Amino acid sequence: MSFDFHKYVASMPDFPEPGVTFRDITPLIGDGEAYAAATDAIVEYAKSRGGVDAIVGPESRGFIVGGPVAFKLGVGLIPARKAGKLPRKTVKQDYELEYGGTNTLEIHADAIKPGDRVLITDDLLATGGTIAATIKLVEQLGGIVVGTAFLIDLKDLKGREKIADYDVFSLMEY
Ligand code: IMP
Repeated sequence: MSFDFHKYVASMPDFPEPGVTFRDITPLIGDGEAYAAATDAIVEYAKSRGGVDAIVGPESRGFIVGGPVAFKLGVGLIPARKAGKLPRKTVKQDYELEYGGTNTLEIHADAIKPGDRVLITDDLLATGGTIAATIKLVEQLGGIVVGTAFLIDLKDLKGREKIADYDVFSLMEY
């Protein structure tokens, strides 16, 4: 792949707290060519996994990455939302945040059917807590996680180890 995605990531030292370098992907999604190239790469990855029935993305950047991928594949997008946002019956999963504290993600209980092949998308893999919780939500409903796809993998935080049983695709590593 020849597209230089790295030049569309802004690295912000000491954000959101001292000692942390935040990787800001808004320049990438703000550029039509870069956003399309990133989408195409993840679409190809989904095809390489044998195809998918649905995309699941955690709130909120998982929607931004997953939406165009779902559209191009002709499948639905299932949002994994923060607690209390979805109106109908849900399944829930708690997880720990990278900078401390806990969070809860939910998806609608009828969003996935047993045996559905699911690709999970997010902007960035850090400690893996968000994606591990999203995987558990899919599996609570009998879905099969055929892969996970990110724009960025923050390698030093070892997220891949937390989801070692699952396939991981990322466009960039830091
Ligand atoms: P994890 O749960 O520790 O893997 O953290 C990943 C989640 O936190 C993703 O949903 C990201 O959107 C967000 N996140 C953590 N660090 C960054 C960053 O440096 N840039 C953008 N998002 C981040």
